[in-house]
Amino acid sequence: MSDSSAKGLHPRTQAVHHGIRRSQYGEMAEAIFLTQGFVYDSAEQAEARFKGTGPDEFIYARYGNPTSRMFEDRIAALEGTEDAFATASGMAAVNGALFSMCKPGDHVVAARALFGSCLYVLDLLAKFGVEVSYVDGTDLDQWRAALRPGTKAVFFESLSNPTLEVIDIEGVARLAHEVGALVVVDNVFATPVFSRAVDLGADVVVYSATKHIDGGGRALAGVICGTRQFVREVAEPYLKHTGGAISPFHSWIMLNGLTTMDLRVRAQADTALTVAQALQGHPALSRVIYPGLADHPQHALAMRSMGSGGTMIAFEVTGGKEAAFAALNRLEIIRISNNLGDAKSIVTHPATTTHQRLSDGDRAYLGITPGLLRLSIGLEDAGDLINDLMQALSA
Ligand SMILES: *Cc1c(COP(=O)(O)O)cnc(C)c1O
Repeated sequence: MSDSSAKGLHPRTQAVHHGIRRSQYGEMAEAIFLTQGFVYDSAEQAEARFKGTGPDEFIYARYGNPTSRMFEDRIAALEGTEDAFATASGMAAVNGALFSMCKPGDHVVAARALFGSCLYVLDLLAKFGVEVSYVDGTDLDQWRAALRPGTKAVFFESLSNPTLEVIDIEGVARLAHEVGALVVVDNVFATPVFSRAVDLGADVVVYSATKHIDGGGRALAGVICGTRQFVREVAEPYLKHTGGAISPFHSWIMLNGLTTMDLRVRAQADTALTVAQALQGHPALSRVIYPGLADHPQHALAMRSMGSGGTMIAFEVTGGKEAAFAALNRLEIIRISNNLGDAKSIVTHPATTTHQRLSDGDRAYLGITPGLLRLSIGLEDAGDLINDLMQALSA
């Protein structure tokens, strides 16, 4: 726990103040230390730094940087972990968390419903001798059956992309911890605002900061949150030597993103519920998936673990790809793209874009049908978004 959370400050207060390091100039706003390295007062000081540096001492920006450290300290405070390591992208964080902890012969259990690049990283682990077992993430019996004494880690998206299945973090963590496995959660869709991952038993929480933390679709970044031991002794050596470092400028963007994240994400989730309710029962749709709706199969779990349905909606247009494309092409406010968590609402056709590379069988298994659309709700007025969707679906 960070100092300010120990003092009982609300996350909104921490999101504005926590982790600030001011220079001798006393600047109000967080400074961007756009420097690759640092000057030492003496040869002895350089030697001492390389032997082992304190939390306020820096050597080289691939290892750490004051602006990046401010971002790491702030997100760790919000997530409720001892420490965090910021990375160049969300995938550098996923890759860093998993590769740094695994060696040939290790066993990892992962949910099948994962972001395509996460599946690629798991395939790469398998190529280097790590055994990877896949399960249906919502089925605790499958997790129980796949875990065995000595399993190194479990990995899953707490809220899956694009079909918004909610994973029971607490249930999976209980089973994983019984065999000594670390629980690694890709928590992007749940967002740091609604995350209770650490309370529920996650050991390592990974974010693509590109999404809700930035909140404006401007820059790539990622972060690994965990114990000080995991972050500094396992993840950091791997990342600092393999080059996944974040740019100090991107850290500054993310640091500023965190100050408004709570307000933004709560507003986006409120709008998502309103939009999902308006889409429910629409004659052009065969399915509306939103964890905040009572008919979602894990609605109760979503409310218990996140207290919200989140900012993402999925829905299936009857008439398959042709009807889905026609609706996409009629949208006027909601943009066709593939980011999420942006201030601008974004719609994606997963079958032909983000999940294009999967086989037809895998897509069908994951519920990614030709008519399925994924909608990331932005900061626009809910009524304007509903009108845009209704006109696009009405033709
Ligand atoms: C976007 C995303 C990633 C990858 O993040 P990048 O910042 O694009 O590298 C990983 N996992 C999930 C669930 C994502 O949505």
